[in-house]
Amino acid sequence: MLNIDLHCHSTISDGLLTPTLLVNRAVQRGVKTLALTDHDDVAGLDEARQVANAQNIQLINGVEISVSWRGRTIHIVGLGIDPEYGPLKEGLKSIRDGRSQRAQSIAAELDRIGIKGSLEGAYKHVGERRLIGRTHFARFLVEYGYAKDVKSVFKKYLIKGKPGYAPHEWAALSDAVGWICESGGRAVIAHPARYKLGKNVLKDLFHDFRVLGGTAIEVITASHTPEQVLHFAQHAQENNFLASCGSDFHGPGESYFDLGQLPNLPAGCIPVWHDWKNVA
Ligand code: AMP
Ligand code: MN
Ligand code: MN
Ligand code: MN
Repeated sequence: MLNIDLHCHSTISDGLLTPTLLVNRAVQRGVKTLALTDHDDVAGLDEARQVANAQNIQLINGVEISVSWRGRTIHIVGLGIDPEYGPLKEGLKSIRDGRSQRAQSIAAELDRIGIKGSLEGAYKHVGERRLIGRTHFARFLVEYGYAKDVKSVFKKYLIKGKPGYAPHEWAALSDAVGWICESGGRAVIAHPARYKLGKNVLKDLFHDFRVLGGTAIEVITASHTPEQVLHFAQHAQENNFLASCGSDFHGPGESYFDLGQLPNLPAGCIPVWHDWKNVA
């Protein structure tokens, strides 16, 4: 088992635990190096760092940026970023502003099929109003009995072709990778199997990402099957990408993996942390 977890969420985005509770849980579960990677926001890092410093766990400054690439939504994790870097801060703010507008469109779509009050309902589940997202709508839908849990919501609602879907234009891949790299961080393609890309499109994504300065992909992530782990380990080696691992933990009972439950990277992968100092 690895004691490194480089992808998780707090109440700053769509996680269920505050940064403090999240770091405490990581410590309890034996994690030695943790990256907090909230969606489109770095506001949880100060609090997480204070707790991490007191608890003898290494905290990596992280973020998960929502990107639109060829009409698809792709998530890019930034590790070791400088959260004070101006263009990164401004870029994230502009993504967050777009989220409020999208939330109104999602609510209007749900309204059309008779699900009323979802905007206020979703906001009740949000930690920070500025980071409203589909997970908060999903929690509202569970609360009102439209699905048994958050995972089931995403089979029936909020995705392309289903009620409650609202198309949205996120940041450009070039911007997101640029903000991360220019602020001193490393850009990582999050959960690559989730996009269900064909061989050629995946090749194009890897190519575009690399040309822009991207250097790593997630190999271990909760949504990858063991076969997908091996598949993307091979992709990492063939494309000279570093390999990352993270639980993508959102909260107790809502995630496939808990913090600190990750298997080792397959042999032959070069870990994204290979040249970091003090990594256990
Ligand atoms: P958003 O960035 O607002 O579009 O919301 C995306 C978030 O929704 C992801 O980060 C997950 O937390 C959640 N999500 C998306 N698809 C699923 C799924 N199939 N099961 C559980 N959560 C999902
Ligand atoms: Mn999420
Ligand atoms: Mn993601
Ligand atoms: Mn995530």
